[in-house]
Amino acid sequence: MGKITGFLEIDRKVESYAPVEERIKNYREFTLPMEEKDVKDQGARCMDCGIPFCHSGCPLGNLIPDFNDAVYRGKWEKASEILHSTNNFPEFTGRLCPAPCEEACVLGINEDPVTIENIEKNIAETAFKKGWITAKPPLERTGKKVAVVGSGPAGLAAAQQLNRAGHQVTVFERDEKPGGLLRYGIPDFKMEKHVIDRRLEVLKEEGIEFKCGVHVGKDIKAGSLKNDFDAIVLTGGATVRRRLPIEGADLKGVVQAMDFLGQNNRRVDGIKDLGEEILATDKDVVVIGGGDTGSDCIGTSFRQGAKSVSNFEIMPMGTPDRPKDQPWPFWPMRLRTSSSHKEGAERFFSISTKKFIGDEKGNLKGLITSEVEWVTVPGQRPQLKEVEGTEREWKCELALLALGFTGSENTIAEQLGLEMDNRTNIKASEIDYKTNVPGIFVAGDQRRGQSLIVWAISEGRQAAHHVDKYLMGESALPLKGDGDLPRV
Ligand SMILES: Cc1cc2nc3c(=O)[nH]c(=O)nc-3n(C[C@H](O)[C@H](O)[C@H](O)COP(=O)(O)OP(=O)(O)OC[C@H]3O[C@@H](n4cnc5c(N)ncnc54)[C@H](O)[C@@H]3O)c2cc1C
Ligand code: SF4
Repeated sequence: MGKITGFLEIDRKVESYAPVEERIKNYREFTLPMEEKDVKDQGARCMDCGIPFCHSGCPLGNLIPDFNDAVYRGKWEKASEILHSTNNFPEFTGRLCPAPCEEACVLGINEDPVTIENIEKNIAETAFKKGWITAKPPLERTGKKVAVVGSGPAGLAAAQQLNRAGHQVTVFERDEKPGGLLRYGIPDFKMEKHVIDRRLEVLKEEGIEFKCGVHVGKDIKAGSLKNDFDAIVLTGGATVRRRLPIEGADLKGVVQAMDFLGQNNRRVDGIKDLGEEILATDKDVVVIGGGDTGSDCIGTSFRQGAKSVSNFEIMPMGTPDRPKDQPWPFWPMRLRTSSSHKEGAERFFSISTKKFIGDEKGNLKGLITSEVEWVTVPGQRPQLKEVEGTEREWKCELALLALGFTGSENTIAEQLGLEMDNRTNIKASEIDYKTNVPGIFVAGDQRRGQSLIVWAISEGRQAAHHVDKYLMGESALPLKGDGDLPRV
């Protein structure tokens, strides 16, 4: 374990941030690296619990006490091996995961939990810096060919695992470059894109082929993949955006968050031909939706020079502490304040947008809201009710709709005859990721709906095991809970 008395002696410490006025001048990551000694001290806080609840909190089943101990002892290469045995891309989760493991950490019952996510990032960065992350192509090829459709974290994890098993993997991606939401959703200030590129180089060197700019179902028929490949893994994400069908929703200036974020990430990448520019510069911006996407819109708006940014959330304001009805080790629904929120956005809760107002040229100039409350009637789902006399008009030239996603696009499913579930995701069991059509598997947001990077990587890994088993009759690819033990 870490230091036996570490948790008694050492306080939790995480990376600090560059000051707001500095960081909003550019799109660079703004966390300030910690001294190696401080990271090792944080590893020393781990109690090596008899039942490490952090394991079950982590969708990947990361071997957390083991890598905490290795870090405490300065055995960074060992820590990297342990971490990579369950997580293909700890440099993504170490930056971006909301860390359900930390909510489940036993130390969190009456102390601040171990800084698991930050330790993970430091392990991954040390491993890259020291040159320990190198291509490990399979020793033998099986002669089987697998198509992966979609190159987000689920697709990349599935591809790497299947390639390790010796299959020839081709990843199809309709965007210009691989990465999914990591590249064209999440802003650079949360993760700079060279972090994806350096990992892609390893994947390519291992023998994975990437075909970008290919929209499966449009540029090539999904059915043709069935002829050319022995198995298909669908990892296309949950890309259907939720709309706000109210008066004025067609005005110029009412924009889907993903159009705004995707365009900005391409701009930061140096792409010139962006179509009609969507910019928050000198505007009063309202971001509708209080989740991750909304938060990313806030940070991006400030970096573009917005005059003001207001953030609306239809749900009531949570408490910063864990609510009593959501005890440890469960993931609590509480008020979360991101670094972007702290850059100057004003947040409003229990608020609903009723109407957008335009000028004579069809440009957005304001919007109308009212306060709402959730009314509970026994035996029924909670109902949203407007609070009378709370109508308010806001000045606003850019409204960003960050309302989440309703499910997966259905073109591929139609072309391949796949069943959808009642949440419009492609239907497949969480046990073996098989769809109703033999040889076709689905993983990540396209199967589970809008979720998290850590879940996407987990599903990609799990699905790869079952694809391998389908192709070969057995699989040595690890499943969650196996750690680095080979499995047959
Ligand atoms: C703005 C935003 C911020 C987020 N921030 C966080 C965060 O901080 N932390 C976190 O854990 N999660 C975050 N998430 C959620 C996380 O990004 C997703 O859960 C995760 O990326 C899902 O991975 P995936 O591989 O299933 O799908 P995606 O990442 O959505 O990738 C799917 C890929 O498939 C491609 N594709 C789809 N259909 C086709 C087709 N027919 N042919 C070819 N290619 C196709 C798409 O172009 C895309 O590249 C965020 C989401 C958004 C929208
Ligand atoms: S629950 Fe927390 S203290 Fe216990 S082993 Fe996991 S990280 Fe360490």
